[in-house]
Amino acid sequence: MGTEKIGVNEIKTKNRQIIYNYIRKQGSVSKQEIVVEMQLSLPTVTTNLDFLKKQGLIDTSGKIKNTGGRNATAFTYVKNARMAIGVDITANHITAVAVNLSGDIVSMERRRIDFDLEDDAYLREIGKTVECVKKDADIADENLLGVGISVQSLISDDGDEITYGMALNFAKKRREEIAAYVPYRNRLIHDSYAAGYRETWTNREFQNAFYISLSNSVGGSVIIDDAIYEGNTHKGGEVGHMAVVPEGGELCYCGRRGCFDTVCRAGRLTGYTDGSIEAFFRLLEEGDETAGRLWDEYLDHLTMAIHNIRMLFDGMVILGGYVGAYAGRYMDDICRRVDERNPFGDRAKDYLVECRYKVEASAAGAALFYIDEFLENI
Ligand SMILES: [Zn+2]
Repeated sequence: MGTEKIGVNEIKTKNRQIIYNYIRKQGSVSKQEIVVEMQLSLPTVTTNLDFLKKQGLIDTSGKIKNTGGRNATAFTYVKNARMAIGVDITANHITAVAVNLSGDIVSMERRRIDFDLEDDAYLREIGKTVECVKKDADIADENLLGVGISVQSLISDDGDEITYGMALNFAKKRREEIAAYVPYRNRLIHDSYAAGYRETWTNREFQNAFYISLSNSVGGSVIIDDAIYEGNTHKGGEVGHMAVVPEGGELCYCGRRGCFDTVCRAGRLTGYTDGSIEAFFRLLEEGDETAGRLWDEYLDHLTMAIHNIRMLFDGMVILGGYVGAYAGRYMDDICRRVDERNPFGDRAKDYLVECRYKVEASAAGAALFYIDEFLENI
């Protein structure tokens, strides 16, 4: 027997979570199965099933076919019972997604619009994009858990304040200004954390991972035991400002020189193709010489960063962001270059992966904040 004392309410909540998670995992089960598998008493199971049904989290209209006897009621997981919305704000787009309790994207809206928080019309567009997915996913007000807003900035503890936002002009903005037209619970979330979390939420076998976000700016997130490690001041994983060019490096938007951001932001590649990442990789495929040279230089820096990150964390490394989304067909070359640096003989192909989620990763990750909050407090 342990010496820890657990309160009655805590046990009740725990039992409810155990039962709900079991149904969520199995999809559809009978009451008897829950009693046997979870080793809980029939009254406990009955009370909790009643509660979950009242909340609309399970459905009891189906039957499970029994061999012999009468068919038992099926207790079925309702994955769209609650939803959260995630919004990602970038230089040229507002992307919003509705995410259900399984983390699936139920609806998505992506609008091309230039970032400008000073313009009321832009702020209204954020609100309209949210309303659009809310309507499309048919979410009633009471079933909307919240709206996570992913921004290219560092965020305060409570998700209310931008503490550093130089990549885009986010500096000194507060949540209520950005979300002026979002009339639902909301909070700000650092975009690299949101994107990294999206990857690991749906792929729990990562456990420990580092997500490198290679977009218009470079960021990252550290995932330890399936949770984001933010560090002491919410800057954990900010690899974009690691100093990698010791002398004569390019000026970074942060005001310093030689940051990792200056050599691995998407612009290093898309500067050649008028901002289009698609066009860059098309030219690269066609054997264009300049594209080839730019990619080669890019990979030199990227593979050094991957190697250093692996040395630090010894976990999975995920290539994300706009560039990561295209990394798939170059993984053999990337792995070979990383392996050349590795003294331990472990192979990059065993720990280096490209991201699974492309444009919507940060938006979906921001929504998952509210899904998790709900699941933890059910
Ligand atoms: Zn910098």
